[in-house]
Amino acid sequence: MSSSAIEPPAWLVESVREVPDFPEPGILFRDLSPLWASSSASARCAVAMAAGAGPVDVVVGIEARGFLVGMLVAPRLGVGFVPIRKPGKLPGQVVSIEYALEYGDDGLELQVDAIGPGSRVMLVDDVLATGGTMAAAVSLVEQLDADVVAIRTVIELRALDGRSRLPDTDIRCLWEID
Ligand code: AMP
Repeated sequence: MSSSAIEPPAWLVESVREVPDFPEPGILFRDLSPLWASSSASARCAVAMAAGAGPVDVVVGIEARGFLVGMLVAPRLGVGFVPIRKPGKLPGQVVSIEYALEYGDDGLELQVDAIGPGSRVMLVDDVLATGGTMAAAVSLVEQLDADVVAIRTVIELRALDGRSRLPDTDIRCLWEID
């Protein structure tokens, strides 16, 4: 049984807009645009996401909003950033994965020379929902023989139990929504 969620900080609650029925009926979309638009909230987000992490060699973010999170956190940790992108966007040799969405399939790719074997990786995205996207990203990093040592998102939708699809690693989400 899961414990109850920790109270989120006020700056974070004020930085997230709830948009009903977007991008399709029945979805309550968590729009982080107010967070990116605020320099103080962005700075706090960077600090909170980097907090408590062990040694990390590289931050890897998932297209598209994971890029925004990743480029906040990586400088804070003093490491570089590597993008995981939708198929066909990255030049050169890539590793690929297809994964199931609620309706249909999607894919992700990572450049093979972007991360060395044994690298300690922090994976980031904006929202952890069913965990399918993050689990696919974990698989790509592992295909390159690197280690996912931390997973961070701004929001976790706990009812969808995304954590159950992820490895037993250091997973933290700034706002765990029941
Ligand atoms: P999932 O693979 O189900 O964990 O979905 C995570 C991905 O979908 C993330 O990249 C999010 O950007 C996006 N996402 C899923 N649900 C939402 C939501 N309710 N609000 C905003 N983004 C979402």
